[in-house]
Amino acid sequence: MQVHFWGTRGSIPSTFPHSRIPVKLREALKRSRNHDLSTDTAIDQFINELPFDVRGTYGTNTSCVEIRGGNAHIVCDCGSGLRDFGGYILGKYHTTSQEYHIFMSHYHWDHIMGFPFFVPAYIPGNVIHIYGCHDNNKFAFQRQQEQPSFPVPMSIMGARIEFHRLEPDQSYEIAGCVVTPKKQNHPGAAYGYRFEKDNQTIVYSTDSEHTPESNNDDYPFLDFFRNADVLIFDAQYELFEHIETKSNWGHSSNVVGVDLAIRSGVKRLCIFHNEHTANDTTLEKFKEETINYLNISNENYPLEVIVSYDGLTIDCSKPNVPSKPKPFEQNQEEELV
Ligand SMILES: [Zn+2]
Ligand SMILES: [Zn+2]
Repeated sequence: MQVHFWGTRGSIPSTFPHSRIPVKLREALKRSRNHDLSTDTAIDQFINELPFDVRGTYGTNTSCVEIRGGNAHIVCDCGSGLRDFGGYILGKYHTTSQEYHIFMSHYHWDHIMGFPFFVPAYIPGNVIHIYGCHDNNKFAFQRQQEQPSFPVPMSIMGARIEFHRLEPDQSYEIAGCVVTPKKQNHPGAAYGYRFEKDNQTIVYSTDSEHTPESNNDDYPFLDFFRNADVLIFDAQYELFEHIETKSNWGHSSNVVGVDLAIRSGVKRLCIFHNEHTANDTTLEKFKEETINYLNISNENYPLEVIVSYDGLTIDCSKPNVPSKPKPFEQNQEEELV
């Protein structure tokens, strides 16, 4: 299986102000001193070696994750990233009929806002299955497209759209995967999904707050995350921020993510639902701090820490690359403001 991230931001799409571009350019040019960039190949190599926050961006879209490797298209959540997923599918398959299986964590706006812009939903012949554990699955989608919120009602969409209610803690065989939902602590409840296929496991667990009971040995999420190749984990906050001001907001911290990943035997901790006010430099720092915490708490555990970004693909068949802290000097680079 593979996982591809179309949207990784939490709560609301994040802006990428034009003022950030000269900052990145300036940093890249500073780093180019003493490099021979006289050929295109040398330029490409130089760009590839720049830090991620200088050469790239963590992206702007809200939650939308594609699980690849099943019999049909499998998607988690319909945040604004769903629009880009739809564009990708249309470019790849043109107008031929496709089948989609969409698993909904919950119906907060950042997780449904992409659906009205999901072009395959307007094309007759396509079939879209939408799964969730809440009672109001269909209602939440319909209401978003009613007047005065949106001009096009769902009834006009040409695809066949079917809603399915799932029970938490029960396993289902859907699109070639075994899928198990789990109820999570979040205002109004949110559900995580464990996907298993060919001895590989991907767990999608966003909008989930882990309280101090997560320290218990019988904490149920340990089994839910057990031996996952990829754990997609809501770590919108730092630990201090979570405890001091944002407890009961329904999200977790990077520190809790590392602890649970280690105790569950996870290979890759993929931080998700990224804070929408955090810029690329902030998220890069957040990643380094998370790796530093891993090193302090259990430096021998081979966990790969990833901060997800729009466009990231992870292949479960490849070995993970355990994360190690950067050498001290490299942490002292001048900050991008
Ligand atoms: Zn959310
Ligand atoms: Zn939410």
